[in-house]
Amino acid sequence: MNEPKYTIAVIKGDGIGVDVTDATMAVVSAARDRIGGFQLELNELLAGAGYFKETGKDVAPNTEAAAGEADAIFLGAIGLPSIRHADGTEISPHLRLREMYQLYAGVRPIKAYPNAPQRLADPRGDEIDLIVLRESTEGLFYSAAVHNRCPVDNDNEVQDILRITRPTTERLHDFAFKLATKRKARGHKGHVTCVDKANVFRSMAFFRQIFDERAAAFPEITKDYNYVDATALDLIRRPWEFDVMVMENMFGDIISDLAGGLVGGMGMASCAEIGQEHGLFQPAHGSAPDIMGQDKANPLAAILSGALMLDYLADKSGQPQLAKAAELIEQAVEAGFAANRIRPMEFGGDMGTIAVTREVIEQVKSVKP
Ligand code: ATP
Repeated sequence: MNEPKYTIAVIKGDGIGVDVTDATMAVVSAARDRIGGFQLELNELLAGAGYFKETGKDVAPNTEAAAGEADAIFLGAIGLPSIRHADGTEISPHLRLREMYQLYAGVRPIKAYPNAPQRLADPRGDEIDLIVLRESTEGLFYSAAVHNRCPVDNDNEVQDILRITRPTTERLHDFAFKLATKRKARGHKGHVTCVDKANVFRSMAFFRQIFDERAAAFPEITKDYNYVDATALDLIRRPWEFDVMVMENMFGDIISDLAGGLVGGMGMASCAEIGQEHGLFQPAHGSAPDIMGQDKANPLAAILSGALMLDYLADKSGQPQLAKAAELIEQAVEAGFAANRIRPMEFGGDMGTIAVTREVIEQVKSVKP
């Protein structure tokens, strides 16, 4: 057999990161077995707070380089509040990976699954299916991501910078329009909303100007704008009307949590962080030390991030079997919820990490692709 092989750098990390990564790899492997046509090689890399406690380093030697050489990076969760650097900050080598590989496009899918918690009384809440696209290397996190970037930082005053650059913003908006094009082919609206505060900030007017410039290359995709404060309101009033929403880093941080709350909670929040050459996939939640080691974590955020990873590999390689495997995992989760066979403890159900994973694998084996 001469099937193409893709290498995945796997960083399980800390706390529930370990369990949800194991769950994801089991589901991804089941999808591969069902669809066929490609091989995956897992390269496990050690990193995180546990590793730091043992060794005094936050990653094993060569981890960053090995992650960069892989076709994709999968990460469980990193950091434990009880283990910190001498200056009090938490162990967070994954932020270095984001910076190093310029993973500018933070993709956060927000989708309502049947029988999963709906926070809105309006029945149209069932139709929520949108993407929050969060720029992830600059914006208002530019100062925060790496230290010593504050222009003023003294005992009397501190200033942070909101940085919008043309090259990153062009790439971001192109990413948004391409994503909307791809989703349109799968039956979505084919619409991009630019979320900004262009009426107040020059940086945001610039962000919107570049949005309009790049939109011209995608005439089949409709577009509009929404100020970020109005977006917070509209996500409660009419979230089912959104498709792809593109925004700077800090707005995306807040809006993605708000949107995620509409369709369940952290255990459903999948995430992709994509750059020009690299992609990192991880659940949006942390290591959840309060439930670690208890088989209580909902693995679906990680499993759905695994599907995003397969889809990314499909785009990168042009290998359609990878896209089919990604779609199969999404269908399996949907079918499992629809049949009420997926009942995570996170939502008051009776199924822990292992039971949910087992059921998703059953669905992967049996659902009609
Ligand atoms: P970080 O700062 O690393 O993102 P955090 O402390 O903000 O972490 P999480 O670790 O994501 O937050 O946990 C927040 C809450 O959500 C905790 O009560 C945790 O138990 C719960 N939680 C997070 N992920 C899951 C999951 N997959 N399944 C069930 N509950 C979860």
